[in-house]
Amino acid sequence: MPEPRVLSLGAGVQSTTLLLLSAEGRIPRYDVAIFADTGWEPSAVYAHLDRIEREIARPAGIPIQRVRVGNIRDDALDPAHRFASMPLFVRKRDGTRGMARRQCSAEYKIRPIREALRTLLGAKPKANGRPGPPPRGRTAVQSIGISRDEVIRAKDSGVSYSRHEFPLLDLDGAADGRPGWTRADCVRYLRRNGFGQTPRSACVGCPFRRNDSWRALRDTDPHTWADAVEFDRAIRHGSARANAAGHPLDGKFYLHPSCVPLDEAPIDRVTRGEWADRQTNLFDAIADTEAGLTDEIGCSPFTCRADLFEELP
Ligand code: SF4
Repeated sequence: MPEPRVLSLGAGVQSTTLLLLSAEGRIPRYDVAIFADTGWEPSAVYAHLDRIEREIARPAGIPIQRVRVGNIRDDALDPAHRFASMPLFVRKRDGTRGMARRQCSAEYKIRPIREALRTLLGAKPKANGRPGPPPRGRTAVQSIGISRDEVIRAKDSGVSYSRHEFPLLDLDGAADGRPGWTRADCVRYLRRNGFGQTPRSACVGCPFRRNDSWRALRDTDPHTWADAVEFDRAIRHGSARANAAGHPLDGKFYLHPSCVPLDEAPIDRVTRGEWADRQTNLFDAIADTEAGLTDEIGCSPFTCRADLFEELP
């Protein structure tokens, strides 16, 4: 049977570029694009997803499948729900700072995409209703939007039924003439095609947001900012389920690395990372600024940018 071609659609710059390239016929056509919804993306991401479905995917005959295992915000505050740990900052009782282990992208993004993939390949549901392994020998090509500047994140799938490919790394036509497109090449391409405002995809309350991203949220979307501030307050004493089970947190959780409440955090400070990006990657910074994008760290299912996050101050 033919190997289905599946786009992992984070709805950020790189995966939107792949969708558009496929719709234009510059890369082979996708059979389906899968978007894993954590339930807590900013409204700009959902609006963008609706738009690319309407204006790119549907006319090209590429279905967008939205998959979801829950709502990361509500689940974190629900005493009856297992807490798929977000990378929250912790100030421990002894004053030291740390970060909670991150399980959220595996739980809310990778897991539902892989389940959809196995179903697509003909897997039968198990007793718990989740798809089992696909029939022997059936595989899919999973296309991941990794640009040349982040080639280090190009990794094998780690499962036998999925083979990762990274089409942006093979494209010609980059501004510097080298093989493979950078993120700035993608932004330019999107701008030429009327999608210059493509947002970066990440949960509203993702602790990986940098100061510029928090500032943008506060200054442009007060309602969503208030939601993040409220969540930051609600998560302060640990997961609702752990507390209900009598296992209180040894310290306090925060969304901001300064470990102060989000609405008091020093988000107006331009961080080392912001300066470094502006200086070492001026071309990208200009392209981003022109496109109205910030330097926030997006969270695509298979290209977590956690390693870009600055170390704790
Ligand atoms: S955006 Fe942040 S909080 Fe959301 S799944 Fe990714 S790492 Fe977790």
